[in-house]
Amino acid sequence: MNKISNLIKLRKKILSLNKKFPGKNLVFSDGNKDAKVMIVGEAPGKTEDKLQKPFVGRAGKLLDKLLESICLDRSKVYITNVVNYRPDKNRIPSTEEINEFKKILFKHIEIVNPKFILLLGATAARAVLNHSGPLSKVRGKWKNIKILNSYFDILTIFHPAFLLRQPRQKKFAIQDLIELKKKL
Ligand code: URA
Repeated sequence: MNKISNLIKLRKKILSLNKKFPGKNLVFSDGNKDAKVMIVGEAPGKTEDKLQKPFVGRAGKLLDKLLESICLDRSKVYITNVVNYRPDKNRIPSTEEINEFKKILFKHIEIVNPKFILLLGATAARAVLNHSGPLSKVRGKWKNIKILNSYFDILTIFHPAFLLRQPRQKKFAIQDLIELKKKL
């Protein structure tokens, strides 16, 4: 089966999980499914739920600017989240939700098969790297991790929503993105 039909199948599977998120829309992905870079965020916010696209609110605008700083845009990356529905009251996804959706995320990664994975923030680092300490311990460090049957080069950076609250940390995100740019 090809990539498109596998992605359609996966989307249908996630649609079947919507009972746990009553009234919320599925936010599956945006960008180019054949891109070298796959970006993984936390979970959709209010704007993303409304427009059914990841990273289209304030944090998304900052993400676009960060990508632009290394000459990337949405035609050159593929974007998704650990959890594909907006958790109530913008809370951080629970451990149970992360564990349930991470299986789907791993399948998503296997289908897209990117060259590089860029994790945004603590929830993505927790789901993919099993990292639960401070993000500063893993950000900017390349990891080669086995996901299902393949190894992927993975870089973690601060989440754009965190950078909106802590703009002085932006320089670290740009510094880390330059490392990604070098690999590309
Ligand atoms: N924050 C995320 O982690 N994902 C989005 O899609 C939007 C904001």
